[in-house]
Amino acid sequence: MPDLITTSFWRCDRSYRREFPSSSDTKTTYVATLQGLSAHCTCPGWQYHERCKHITIMMKQACLWNELWNAKGMEVTDDRRCPGCGGELASFSEAV
Ligand SMILES: [Zn+2]
Ligand SMILES: [Zn+2]
Repeated sequence: MPDLITTSFWRCDRSYRREFPSSSDTKTTYVATLQGLSAHCTCPGWQYHERCKHITIMMKQACLWNELWNAKGMEVTDDRRCPGCGGELASFSEAV
């Protein structure tokens, strides 16, 4: 077995939390959270499929900057701040 080669990179670790009123039951509110690569929502869609429109909306608006997919060529600043939003960064490793 060859050694697993991993690469480490910076990604934005800013956390987002948003409440969405249910469209079918006005007394119910779903809470969607997103941080780095992990997302979670309290709605039934997420419980069953780990996919829902709330997270999709959050993903579109969130920073989610990461060094590997850095399409805009932005550099991590010396004080380790996200070049996309100025928020916290976290080091992340991935097998290549
Ligand atoms: Zn949801
Ligand atoms: Zn960011």
